[in-house]
Amino acid sequence: MTECIFCRIVAGEIPATRVQEDADTLAFRDVNPAAPVHLLVVPKRHIASLEAAGDDDGGILGMLLLSARRAARAEGLSEGGYRVVVNVGPDAGQAVFHIHLHVLGGRPLDWPPG
Ligand code: AMP
Repeated sequence: MTECIFCRIVAGEIPATRVQEDADTLAFRDVNPAAPVHLLVVPKRHIASLEAAGDDDGGILGMLLLSARRAARAEGLSEGGYRVVVNVGPDAGQAVFHIHLHVLGGRPLDWPPG
């Protein structure tokens, strides 16, 4: 069995609130939300981080952005706006090594982030 928590969510082995899914990507609610809307968008195939993505992974990386936009629209965030964040590696605080896009919205978001 895989140790990767997001692979296990994709496989349905760990519960998550799934909000959108297609053949290649899954969006679900972050268990510890940092904003009124906080989604995570992941590829169903394991890629550890942006640094680990291959030069031939442009297709799935683009699909993740489009899935993030679709999920944000479905959550009603288009007009007010939202933020899409990818933490990469230790200095950025990446805690789960399965690449994921955070989609944050539903309140004004400070810039720069901490
Ligand atoms: P990062 O720091 O970019 O790796 O973010 C990992 C995110 O995954 C955090 O915001 C966590 O709250 C979230 N997270 C961890 N485990 C789960 C889980 N089982 N279901 C939903 N979100 C999770």
